[in-house]
Amino acid sequence: MTYVITQNCCNDASCIAECPVDCIRPTPEERARFASAEMLYIDPDSCIDCGACVDACPVGAVSYEDELTDPQRRFLEFNAGYFAQYPLVPTYDTARIVKLDGSRGELRVAIVGSGPSGAYVAEELLSRGQVKVSVYDALPTPWGLLRSGVAPDHQHTKDLAAIFEKTADKAALELHLNVAIGTDVSVDELLASHHAVVLATGAADAQPWDLPGADLTGVSSANDFVAWFNGHPDASDKVFDLSCERVVIVGNGNVALDVARVLTMSRDELLKTDIADHALEALSNSSVREVVVLGRRGPLQAAYTSPEFYALGFLPGVEVVIDEGEAELDELSRALVDGGDVSYAEQLKAGLAGEYAAKTRTGAERRIVFRYLSEPARVLGADRVEGVEIAHTRLREQDGSLVTERTGESEELVAGLVLTSVGYRGRPIDGVPFDEARGVIPNDDGRVVAAPGLYATGWIRRGAKGGLGSSRVDAEEVVDHLVNDFNAALLSDPSTEAQSVAAIGLDGWRAIDQHERSAGQSVGRPRVKLVTVPDLLEAARG
Ligand code: NAP
Repeated sequence: MTYVITQNCCNDASCIAECPVDCIRPTPEERARFASAEMLYIDPDSCIDCGACVDACPVGAVSYEDELTDPQRRFLEFNAGYFAQYPLVPTYDTARIVKLDGSRGELRVAIVGSGPSGAYVAEELLSRGQVKVSVYDALPTPWGLLRSGVAPDHQHTKDLAAIFEKTADKAALELHLNVAIGTDVSVDELLASHHAVVLATGAADAQPWDLPGADLTGVSSANDFVAWFNGHPDASDKVFDLSCERVVIVGNGNVALDVARVLTMSRDELLKTDIADHALEALSNSSVREVVVLGRRGPLQAAYTSPEFYALGFLPGVEVVIDEGEAELDELSRALVDGGDVSYAEQLKAGLAGEYAAKTRTGAERRIVFRYLSEPARVLGADRVEGVEIAHTRLREQDGSLVTERTGESEELVAGLVLTSVGYRGRPIDGVPFDEARGVIPNDDGRVVAAPGLYATGWIRRGAKGGLGSSRVDAEEVVDHLVNDFNAALLSDPSTEAQSVAAIGLDGWRAIDQHERSAGQSVGRPRVKLVTVPDLLEAARG
């Protein structure tokens, strides 16, 4: 018998440190593989059934083989399949960890951004020796995307906040919420009062998307839609017209899947979540029956991850529809598979698309339709969106990678809402270098270029790719560099005390948290979110 990691896996890797036989992979030491892993896997041949990983997992993703639900049983194969491609090799090396040189006194670090990338840096710094960490966030609530990005039906992932709360409780950490760096306090001021400043501001803006018709009413970014249904204060007054039957989502990453699920979930399912009340009401009255997800490449190259894609098949009242022809691999992709030149995760994704295509249609009330080798050519409509002209694409090799080109064939699809889910980019911060083209802070392995004492981590460091695991790898690397620089006396000592700003601290956040959870308890939901800054500030004051 074995333990099995399932869909909720957040790649936090807490389980790896607890496993006495080192049978969970990939590990953070395998940096490249860990950073791009869809989930973590337990080697069934080495697992000794001890259950240490179950207790360590912050999001309830590990189950005993005997206790798997029917849909979860597939994860037995997903876990074992990984080790068929990457056999277990011992990797754990605690000697690698860079510790602070105690003779140099206390290291003082400011972290800008309390999302997972900033929270992991805080956790990592506190494990390295004598350190004082101040975490700043512009919002009155902490944990960034855990609150405003992770989809409301992924409550298990949000449970990761419990780990960040434990870190925040330590005396060496101070939380300064509702403080905008660059406006309320400058980066230079932070640098003057700390040895180093770590920028963990994520990627707050949608990638620009420009096509004929893109400015029509009814075209929005998935970024705005996600912020709206998650109750981000900047998006709570947005309005989405859900009176149409069909929505088209451009791009097929995990954000597109989050949006497709939320658009097709029933009110009963939504009521189990912490979705913002305004979105709950709008979605409960929605006329949307079909969501079409457009991917410009094929099923082998889809940007979503297989656990998320697989789980769509179990949404109550929702059918995943893929035409058989769409799931077939084009010649180039087929050659890659036949040549053994694809990863386990890619093969799994393509295989799952084939399984959906082979399924008999149930005629469920709502459908999520996946289209591949398709991209919008223009949005149709006079005053508002009436449809999308879809151009067919094919793959071709260019300089060793696969790019797309249009075949010349196209079709028109009636739709009332177009959501572009084509990725995110970072926002510049006053006084910090910025790479406009890539939407990131230019850095050399996390050290901000030409700015001693400044470091960047997470999506603002390398672009909006990868989940929580890659933020954790970033945190380790950046903290290694920062600690090495401090030990080598390359960082200037603080010349001033930190400025006192009227911030919300941990107590204020706990008052908000308590308020929202109590409101949720009274209606049988995890929490009812406050969605405006004045309401959050009032709750923080208790
Ligand atoms: P993403 O994974 O990078 O997907 C972006 C999608 O947009 C891709 O399908 C991409 O196609 C497409 N695209 C980009 N430019 C386009 C254009 N001009 N025209 C048509 N299509 C275009 O980004 P994301 O979905 O925003 O997610 C960001 C990261 O967060 C990802 O690493 C994701 O896995 C992670 N995330 C994880 C979860 C989860 O684990 N549950 C949830 C949400 C997000 P190409 O691939 O062809 O470029």
